[in-house]
Amino acid sequence: MPACSVLEQVRAIVYHECMHEMSLAVNIVELVSEKAQGAGGKKITSVELEAGKLSGVMIEALVFCFDAASRNTPAEGARLEVREVDGLGNCLGCAHSFALDSLLGQCPQCGGYGVETVQGKELKVVSFTIDEE
Ligand SMILES: [Zn+2]
Repeated sequence: MPACSVLEQVRAIVYHECMHEMSLAVNIVELVSEKAQGAGGKKITSVELEAGKLSGVMIEALVFCFDAASRNTPAEGARLEVREVDGLGNCLGCAHSFALDSLLGQCPQCGGYGVETVQGKELKVVSFTIDEE
């Protein structure tokens, strides 16, 4: 078996395991590439993201997939910086706000399970840097 087919197999497995992150990475690359071109920039040097701790996104996988997804785009070689955002819940029973570390949180004040997640599920591009030269 030639060495390159082994490489292809490994790559297929890795992609399969981070399929969710791969599609997120493709979306991010498309978004920033479009905006960079609209702004007249040719190359994106860094992208800053906010990822909620309750979003289920595997950050390491996302960074890996971003490298792959950005090849042959203006975002190729850009540094991806991911800032984690803590979960925040709001109790629907007593209106208490508290830190949430799971989507099935319980209110520490009244013990209720009617908790609205107000922060921590999002994944968004906060900013990116364009090299205009
Ligand atoms: Zn409560």
